[in-house]
Amino acid sequence: MTTSSAAAEARRRRVVLLGATGSIGVQCCDVISRFPQLFELVGVAAGSDLAGLSSVVERFGVRRSALVSPPAGEILPPGMGSGVEAVCELAAMECEVVCVAIPGAAALRPTLAALDAGRTIATATKEVLVMAGELVKARAAAAGASILPVDSEHSALWQCLRGERADSVSRLVLTASGGPFRERDPATFATVTVEEALRHPTWTMGPKVTIDSATMMNKGLEIIEAHFLFDVAYAQIGAVIHPRSIVHSFVEFIDGAVVAQLGVPDMRVPIALAIADGRRLPGIAAPARLTDGAALEFFEVDAARFPAVGLARSAGELGGIVPAVLNAANEVAVAAFLERRIGYDAIVSLVGDAVGAVANVTDPSLGDVLDADAWARRFTTERIGGAVTSA
Ligand code: MG
Repeated sequence: MTTSSAAAEARRRRVVLLGATGSIGVQCCDVISRFPQLFELVGVAAGSDLAGLSSVVERFGVRRSALVSPPAGEILPPGMGSGVEAVCELAAMECEVVCVAIPGAAALRPTLAALDAGRTIATATKEVLVMAGELVKARAAAAGASILPVDSEHSALWQCLRGERADSVSRLVLTASGGPFRERDPATFATVTVEEALRHPTWTMGPKVTIDSATMMNKGLEIIEAHFLFDVAYAQIGAVIHPRSIVHSFVEFIDGAVVAQLGVPDMRVPIALAIADGRRLPGIAAPARLTDGAALEFFEVDAARFPAVGLARSAGELGGIVPAVLNAANEVAVAAFLERRIGYDAIVSLVGDAVGAVANVTDPSLGDVLDADAWARRFTTERIGGAVTSA
């Protein structure tokens, strides 16, 4: 190796990728493979997909890896740990950025491990900020760790806010595609099939977030996520429907200026921006063509059609453990819908039942958050026990 290439090697950003085999993980690997001079994958973790994780390890020559729940009876290759503890160790290892793409509440402990070690995290897992936003922010502040958004709307807000003063911001507005049921008669929601709900009009994503997009619980969770990422009050965070998903979100400033971020729907753009610490990399996606004749339309969110948005906003405003309950009940209900055990229309009503039944705890500890999460899972699972499949 020559001196100059050694220097280039030394400057490569070391990336730990948690959730390497899911939709975001695969796209993160794609970005890294296109810029081998910029990034080095030093640790990878996945849930239970041994074959998928092994192929990432082999492709990038990753030295350390971990599976949360390895398939029973399988012997893991050298360098691959198992269990949540092993994933937390990976999350804390020496690196420039930890990309968190483990779906759902399972990402909480690894996220805290990374933050406690002072790592910069690029997070695609909004559930972590939803369930434990206050705690996550406090732990990041104590260790001097940064949290960068991978979620496309929050990446857009981050881009719109760069170089602006906090006291110049009037309102953050998240855009939402409205999902596949923006115009479907709500009276027919009980008969929505899993296939129909998984057919997202603009984005290709994992099943959990795709169902959340159909109910618009996703936008509700993103309002809470935005509150914690940008320290903006709930009253100053709005949402609008924008079916083409070209405008990824916008910020209204106190002088009346509105700054938006536009682009084709391609998660590799926010992933690359986050793992490169805000540096723009060439050729990640083609620019959106604004002269193709298609209109950029925006609509108010119909609260009766999409009650999840208001439900999540209220949970965020209540704070304490209520957002954790909202998130856990939603995870259980979405999983039950995907397994065809409940109807589509039961998802948000089950979440509302759990949120309505919880006794709040303010300023919760990690134990309180985990207890609330477990309580909401039990509560919702018991309710589903008696429910009849209608889809
Ligand atoms: Mg999003």
